[in-house]
Amino acid sequence: MQQLSTSARGLATVGAHTPDADLCEVLARAAAIVAAHTVRDGLCAGCRDWWARLAPFPCEQVRWARAIRDRYGDACATGRESGGAA
Ligand SMILES: [Zn+2]
Repeated sequence: MQQLSTSARGLATVGAHTPDADLCEVLARAAAIVAAHTVRDGLCAGCRDWWARLAPFPCEQVRWARAIRDRYGDACATGRESGGAA
């Protein structure tokens, strides 16, 4: 019962007007992708190291991450992320 109520509350939070937690998680992933997917010999080093994939840079992941950051900026830099991922 306790587990059920917790998940129900989590679903309610996702649907409510509190996008902070979800947005911060997305932004954190976007930042990690930008940090890992760098250009190397014209190809994406992240894609090559992670998936052995020869993707032209900027790869799909970096373009997504940049778009997210362009859209939301540093919405989570102040407040929640105090001493988070250095
Ligand atoms: Zn990549």
